[in-house]
Amino acid sequence: MRVVIGGGSGFVGRELTRLLKSKGHEITLISRQPGPGKITWADVESGGLPPCEGAVNLAGESIMNPLRWWNESYKKDLVSSRVNTTRILAQAIAASSTPPHSWVLVTGVACYKPSLQTQYTEESEWTPFDFLSRLVKEWEAAGQLPENSAKKTRQVIIRPGAVLGRDGGAMKQMLIPFWLGLGGTLGSGRQPFPWIHLSDLAGIIAHALEPKEELSTEPDVLNGVAPALNTNFEFTKELGRTLKRPTIFPVPGFFLDVFLGSERAVILTQGQKVVPKKTLESGFKFQYPDLTSALKEIVGY
Ligand code: NDP
Repeated sequence: MRVVIGGGSGFVGRELTRLLKSKGHEITLISRQPGPGKITWADVESGGLPPCEGAVNLAGESIMNPLRWWNESYKKDLVSSRVNTTRILAQAIAASSTPPHSWVLVTGVACYKPSLQTQYTEESEWTPFDFLSRLVKEWEAAGQLPENSAKKTRQVIIRPGAVLGRDGGAMKQMLIPFWLGLGGTLGSGRQPFPWIHLSDLAGIIAHALEPKEELSTEPDVLNGVAPALNTNFEFTKELGRTLKRPTIFPVPGFFLDVFLGSERAVILTQGQKVVPKKTLESGFKFQYPDLTSALKEIVGY
């Protein structure tokens, strides 16, 4: 199958590209920069979608960029980089005379309100309550295909938790402090920490690209989280154990609020118990369902 991946040059996209190529699929990336094997967003806007059977969007300004101060201009970039690219792809799919059979949009679990008790499945009702949940609402709405296109193209939304892998995302920022023995729980540590191993997220996206016989006009939602429900405390202790390093320095919540901005620090200081109910029902088998196996693979022991 030919698959077009918006933002495919990034952390998740590189793993997805590797996986799809290993299965014999052909990949074209959509990027801000032209290059071999790539087209630009402007090319899609002016020339339409290249012939393909699957389309994925992973594009977005990084939310956890420690070098960017939390301000209105950064927030604007977070929204526009996701909503505009998603809209360009959805419009190109709708305008295509040979649309792909699958359209997969990767968003996030920030739509679910942080809670120590509530468990969220893909069927849980949610209404936006803060900046990040409003972003998810607008992002997912931008990907919605008109009814006549939805009859031809399967729409899937995947909502991942923190993606854990060796060469990017949260682990890349955490490994050095943990190696130095400076790792510790964030805030109270009791908050849920929804996570997924990078290989499993790539696997879920590949699974969602498979054609489906019966199409619904509404997107299928799959939570991209491991079935293990862990807290930040459990994650911290397991990472310390795997690295054989102490984790005795808790990071106070107010420090993260000041350093990252409270609207973004919620990703670390609060969390949601998210269950991959539909993902499991769809037949997907996790390679790394628990923290021990995931962290062993990532840290290389
Ligand atoms: P990356 O930070 O690696 O970025 C993916 C790609 O987005 C980049 O390679 C880049 O492609 C493109 N991009 C970056 N900034 C902009 C911008 N301002 N405008 C347009 N395109 C831009 O993301 P990940 O691979 O980590 O994540 C993929 C998606 O999954 C993102 O939407 C992210 O929000 C979501 N997600 C990720 C999680 C994680 O832990 N990593 C957790 C939950 C959700 P290029 O330079 O080629 O244009």
